[in-house]
Amino acid sequence: MSARALGIVLLLAATACGRGGSEGARTAAATPFDGDKAMEYVRTQLAFGPRVPGSEAHRAAGDWIAASMRQRADTVIEQRWDHRTADGRTIPLRNIFARFNPNASERVLYVTHWDSRPKSESASDSVQRKLAVPGANDGASGTAMLIALGDALKAARPTLGVDFLFVDGEDYGEFGPPDVDVLLGASYFAEHPLVANYHPLFGVLWDMVGDRDLRFDQEVNSLREAPEVVSLVWETAQRLGYGSTFVPAEGLAITDDHIPLLKAGLRVIDVIDLDYPWHHTPDDTIDKVSATSLKIVGDVAYELLKR
Ligand SMILES: [Zn+2]
Repeated sequence: MSARALGIVLLLAATACGRGGSEGARTAAATPFDGDKAMEYVRTQLAFGPRVPGSEAHRAAGDWIAASMRQRADTVIEQRWDHRTADGRTIPLRNIFARFNPNASERVLYVTHWDSRPKSESASDSVQRKLAVPGANDGASGTAMLIALGDALKAARPTLGVDFLFVDGEDYGEFGPPDVDVLLGASYFAEHPLVANYHPLFGVLWDMVGDRDLRFDQEVNSLREAPEVVSLVWETAQRLGYGSTFVPAEGLAITDDHIPLLKAGLRVIDVIDLDYPWHHTPDDTIDKVSATSLKIVGDVAYELLKR
């Protein structure tokens, strides 16, 4: 993703949850989310190699995510297509849509991208810039968090319907403007809905959520387009005692997978920590990610599903 301003105006409905509470009122142990397991799932993804669309690592990692979710969710739909790039190549992409309680009408949508970037343009030297990004944080962290959340939901079934959307091709091309060959999976999902009349109560995109030095400001497009969802997420984090990680301060405007989903009318915000020195470099590796950070995010994601 990249930071730049976007001007979309949507009508907003204030439906923020009114539950209050002071920081520290609940402890992290209040949810069964297992941060160590999430860390293990980061490691598993990195062992495949960079998950660059078209590569063997990408195919194998996609199979592993789909199989992992089949063990945890009620339904898994793989949405596959070939994408024609701006320079005329064809790459195979797939979104993985895993559903808990598929018949429930009240639903929550969680999104993450699972691909990794084919080049490291932010690296300091020209040889390194040609390398693919390992994507421990950028790609693997959100994916790992959702799979570990799947463990928790399998053990304690949610009453709400819950959908996990693992999108492909977020990070393939160039962030502009103009944006070229990026946000591919989220855009495809928005244009080819898998479910008729799909209107989740709210959605959260979890991106770069594993940084060992974790801090989330409130992303500007999210604040503008779905402020009630931002309030719900940050207030939930505060209630769990995570107010120093989820800081209620305005951050950057970031081009990310929530944008095509917002444009399609889904109320999805972006939870992202883009203050990450190893972003789009070969140094986005496992040592930059921590189980403690994944636990914080997983607890908030779990708590948001309680009704
Ligand atoms: Zn990226």
